[in-house]
Parts: sequence; C-alpha cells; structure tokens
Amino acid sequence: MSQGTLFIVSAPSGAGKTSLVRELIESLDGIQVSVSHTTRAKREGEVDGVNYHFIDVPDFEAMIKRGDFFEYAKVFDNYYGTSRKAAQTLLEAGQDVILEIDWQGAQQVREQMPNAVSIFILPPSRDELERRLASRGTDEHAVIARRMRDAVSEMSHFNEYDYLVINDDFTTALQELQSLVISRRLTLATVSERHAPLLDALLS
Ligand code: 5GP
Repeated sequence: MSQGTLFIVSAPSGAGKTSLVRELIESLDGIQVSVSHTTRAKREGEVDGVNYHFIDVPDFEAMIKRGDFFEYAKVFDNYYGTSRKAAQTLLEAGQDVILEIDWQGAQQVREQMPNAVSIFILPPSRDELERRLASRGTDEHAVIARRMRDAVSEMSHFNEYDYLVINDDFTTALQELQSLVISRRLTLATVSERHAPLLDALLS
C-alpha cells in the first residue's frame, strides 16, 4: 500500500478553515482530518474524540516527554498537538491526511516531512475578517481587537506555505482546495507508486 499525502492547512480564526476542511473531506474519498490533542476547554457543541482529544496540561506534558507528538505548539495560552501515531497510521493505510494546525506546527511538520503540501487560507479583506470575528459571540471592542491581532500574527506567516486560497466565495475556495488535493494525487510520483502494476502492464 502506498503512503498517503500529508496536507497542512493553516488560517487565522475567521477565515473559514474548519467549514472548508469539513466540506472538503465530505466531498472526496480517501482523505481524513487528524484529530488533535488540546488542553483548551471544550466549547459548546464540541465532542471529545471528534473535534479534539481534550486532555489536561499534565497529560499533555507527559505526552511531550514521551515524544508522542509529531508536532505541538502553544497557541493563545493552550497546548495543541498532533499525535505521531494517529497521523502515521492513517498515512500508512494510504489515506491522505489533513492537519489543521497553526504556523508553528506547520514549521515542525515541514522539517520532518518535506513532501507535505501546505496551504494557507486567507479572508478576502481586513474588513470582512473583522466582521467575521465580531460576529463570534461578543461585541466587546477589546476582545475583537485581540482576535484581530492574533489573526494578523498568524497571517504574517502566509509566505511560508506552498499554496494560498482566498476564501471570498465559499464554493470557489472549496473547489480550489479540491483541485490541490486531486492534482497532488496525479503527480508522476504518486501515480507511479499507486499504479505500478498498470504501468508495467502497459509497457510490456
Ligand atoms: P481553536 O482553539 O480555535 O480550535 O484553534 C486555535 C488554533 O490552534 C488554530 O489556529 C488551529 O489551527 C490551531 N491548532 C489546532 N490543532 C492544532 C495542532 O494539533 N497543532 C498545532 N500546532 N496547532 C493546532
């Protein structure tokens, strides 16, 4: 069985990353999202083991010590990490795997897996980003300003990624993500590995 491809997807909060990734994996076969571990509190509607594996700080730090994480980072005061075993098991089963992680995690993954494909999702404008961040629960100016600062800080790393997708129209952005996954599956390296018997037979 040939290995799947690892896709890194990063974005500032408010760019629509989670909805796009959800639609992407529903629309294509053979691709899954790796469920991360985090120490942040569960939000309403989130399910343990589905959105994240929710664990406490001592357990997270024990996992760091054991070398269980493929990558991990502290993002906005909480730990987030990708379990090495979970991602590896999926890739070895031939699944393409999406890591929805921040820029710090993306840097660690690129170092260990230079073939990973990295994608950064951007909002269509600063005004639209501010509008999307403001519509998340609170209207308090200081909270929105903090979210904007965090978003700008994440976006400042856009030029470390292989591909940029601007989420103005959702359907267009989804098609662009699908194209990136499909085109990767059609590269010479991937097709020659996955269809070696066919290529042999065609040339015999
Ligand atoms: P949230 O708490 O809103 O779900 O996620 C906050 C940030 O943490 C997002 O930028 C998200 O991409 C990032 N994140 C989620 N899981 C991981 C992970 O496993 N590793 C890293 N490095 N970042 C993550």
